[in-house]
Amino acid sequence: MTRAHSEMVERIGRFSDALKKSRLRLTHQRLEVAREIACNTTHPDVETIYQGVRQRIPTISLDTVYRTLASLAALGLIARVSVSSGPTRYDANLARHHHFLCTRCGLIRDVCSAALDAVRAPEEANDLGTVESVEVQLRGVCEACAGKESLHGKEEGHGEHW
Ligand SMILES: [Zn+2]
Ligand SMILES: [Zn+2]
Repeated sequence: MTRAHSEMVERIGRFSDALKKSRLRLTHQRLEVAREIACNTTHPDVETIYQGVRQRIPTISLDTVYRTLASLAALGLIARVSVSSGPTRYDANLARHHHFLCTRCGLIRDVCSAALDAVRAPEEANDLGTVESVEVQLRGVCEACAGKESLHGKEEGHGEHW
């Protein structure tokens, strides 16, 4: 068993314990939603989690997925990722980390870096309020999108114009 795998198993256990203790009944469907988000590192939105769980439970409703994710977030077990646009994305990784966001396809990946962890809020920020945490968001074009672009560039290079 790899370390990442045992972390996932531990995370699923924590999620189901918390759901059990919350006022929500721990149904098989909710447990599957918890399992899906716990094992997903792509910062999925509700729709993506719904599609994933539907593979195993075709009868699950989007509403159940939505409510379960909202409860896990309210319990502090998953975080909402703040991106500028589009539907809310969820993150089961609550360890300190930063994000790389692809501005073309919306991909979000975790970035763990001691250098970014060391970034401190500037003095000026204290005028706005008490800073409790600093998260750096790196924005750019992911490998896959960059690859598509260079491929496209080559095709155009053949000189055939429509
Ligand atoms: Zn991309
Ligand atoms: Zn993350």
